[in-house]
Parts: sequence; structure tokens; C-alpha cells
Amino acid sequence: MEKLLANQFALVTGASSGIGYGVARALADAGASVALNYHSHAESAEKLADEINQSGGTAFPVKADVSNPADVDAMFDACRARFGTLDIVVANSGLQRDSAIADMSMEEWQTVLGTNLTGQFLTAQAAVKEFRRRGPTSASKALGKIICMSSVHEVIPWAGHVNYAASKGGIQMFMKSLAQEVAPERIRVNSIAPGAIRTKINRDAWETHTAEQKLLQLIPYGRVGEVEDIGKAAVWLASDESDYVVGTTLFVDGGMTLYPGFIDNG
Ligand code: NAD
Repeated sequence: MEKLLANQFALVTGASSGIGYGVARALADAGASVALNYHSHAESAEKLADEINQSGGTAFPVKADVSNPADVDAMFDACRARFGTLDIVVANSGLQRDSAIADMSMEEWQTVLGTNLTGQFLTAQAAVKEFRRRGPTSASKALGKIICMSSVHEVIPWAGHVNYAASKGGIQMFMKSLAQEVAPERIRVNSIAPGAIRTKINRDAWETHTAEQKLLQLIPYGRVGEVEDIGKAAVWLASDESDYVVGTTLFVDGGMTLYPGFIDNG
């Protein structure tokens, strides 16, 4: 049977660790050729590319700081040089610089907004231009697919993290407005909003038994998420199986957005 993403070319930003790593692996397993963007950890991206190439897939690492327009242009040029085009772009790169409001520096604010929000803008903008340049293909019903990696914090306020929550709240309206703008061209833009997924970004929240038990109080489904949970959602959102899904945030959060504080009748 032909794989769900056969003959398609994908780019995943922030693919050298965590969710990006898991998403890239899942897209490759579903038959896509994958460009693996990394910012700082070339070895991890090279290791994943080797793993994918050795298991019969196609992948290559590409360095770029997604907050830098020239880097993003160069990253898309590298994808065109290697693959000819892209069909699927996952804007996943993100980071936290946590601080109480009075202590938050301009640098902490701008770094988070620059990577999490401006980075997604630059990546999605380049993706739209590439889909238009290439025109329709037989590989997919859509002209192209963009997946923004959001967070439950696009709707759950987060004290001590105003920069991060503002960036993810921004992604919500960025994604919806872009989806509305480009849907007539059959470009599908959607978000995934992960809950607590076991990666280094939130290591403090799951590393010890005590921390994990506290975290589980926020997750009705009773387990911390794994990067594979997000990978499977990304494959579906990138495939023609979700062809009528446009401008939606898919929460993959074990019920974290269900107001778990009300579980005992409030
Ligand atoms: P992670 O730290 O493992 O991955 C983040 C990736 O982004 C890293 O590979 C990092 O190198 C890359 N990155 C950071 N700045 C970059 C830049 N300027 N240019 C290019 N790449 C850059 O953490 P993760 O948990 O895998 O996070 C991935 C995404 O998922 C982020 O957008 C994060 O906000 C989101 N998210 C994570 C969780 C979670 O529980 N882990 C929950 C909700 C949302």
C-alpha cells in the first residue's frame, strides 16, 4: 500500500530535538522526504538524517535561525536545491525564557517573540511563496500544507510566562488569519496545540516523581504526552485524510484544556 505522504517533500523547523524530532521521524515514516532544520545541534539533526536515510527514507539537515529572514530564505533555497520544492512545512521551533513580569528583560521578551512568533511568520511566508511558485501537483489535493506548532497556552493563561503565552496566543490568530487568506488557493494552514509532552523544554515538570505527579493533576487522561503523539497528529494534518480541515487548532493534550480543576465538581 502506498504511504500516506509518498512523493511529498517536507520541512520541519527545530527538528534536532523533542517534538520537531518526533514529527520529522513520523513524516518520514509516512513516506515524505524531510528537511531537518536545526539551530544549534547539528549532531542531532545529522543523526536523525542518518537514521531516516538508513531506513530507506530521505532526509537532510539544514541550519537556520528561524527568527532571521536571510537564514529562512537560505533554508528554503537549500530545500529547493535538494528536493525541487516543498509540500509540507511544519513551523515548530520554539523556546521559553521564563520570568516574573517585573524581572523580564527586553531580551527575554524579544527572544521568545522573535523565535516563536516572528519565526513562524517568516517560515509560513516562505512556504506560501514556494507553494505558489511550484503550482499544483498530483502528490496532494492541497497546493501546500502549513502546520504551526502552538501550545495549550494559546488559550490557557500562564503566570510567569507572559512572553511565551503571548507568542502562542499570537500564533492562534496568525494561523487563522493566514488560513483564511490562502485557503482559496487550496493552501491548508492549521495548528497543533500540544499539552505537556516529554521533552527538554519542560524537563523540570516531569523529571522527578513528585514533579510528574503534580503535572498529572493537570491532565485528565492521566499520562504525560510523548513526541510520537504529536508526530501522528502531524502526519494526519499533513495528509489528504484531513483535506477539509482548514484553520483549526488540533489540541493534543490529554484533556489539559478541559478545566481539570472542575473534575471533582469544581
Ligand atoms: P525543544 O527545546 O526540544 O525543541 C525546540 C526546538 O526549537 C529545538 O530543536 C531548538 O533548537 C529549536 N529552536 C529554538 N530556537 C530556534 C531558532 N531561533 N531557529 C531555529 N530553531 C530554533 O522543545 P519542544 O518541546 O520539542 O518544543 C517544540 C515546539 O513545541 C515549541 O514551539 C514549543 O513551544 C511547542 N510545545 C511544546 C510543548 C511540550 O510540552 N514539550 C507543549 C506545547 C508546545
